[in-house]
Amino acid sequence: MSDIHEGGCACGAVRYRTSAEPQRVSLCSCTWCQRRTGSALGISVYFMAEDVEFLQGKMRAYRLQSDAGRWLESEFCETCGTTVTWTLEFLPGFRGIAGGTFDQPTFWYQPQRYVFARSKPEWLTIPEGVDVYQTMALPQKTCPVG
Ligand SMILES: [Zn+2]
Ligand SMILES: [Zn+2]
Repeated sequence: MSDIHEGGCACGAVRYRTSAEPQRVSLCSCTWCQRRTGSALGISVYFMAEDVEFLQGKMRAYRLQSDAGRWLESEFCETCGTTVTWTLEFLPGFRGIAGGTFDQPTFWYQPQRYVFARSKPEWLTIPEGVDVYQTMALPQKTCPVG
């Protein structure tokens, strides 16, 4: 399978290309992911920063301070508002891509962990074979997307 995948925002202005297998794929039901997606969970596909190339489009950034004082900076299309990517203070060198923004086949990657399962909806079933954490995967991590 090719390691090259492309994706973009809802209006098509922002486009990106990833050129490696993801380092980590997390499903997250923290309240930040729920708000930013308007959904029950966020899909975080992490790459090394150098494996993600932004091809076109303008994004705006919003820096969120977590309760523990670490920052998380999400970037979204300035036209349609789709959150496309983010960086995290606690994961230097990595870049998160919003899992639903890949072109078809959108869900080509395999989730490895489910974090913040404590705030997932009762009716949502966690996939088999995924490591489940009630909050963050590691205690020293202070940022919600893990
Ligand atoms: Zn857009
Ligand atoms: Zn989250």
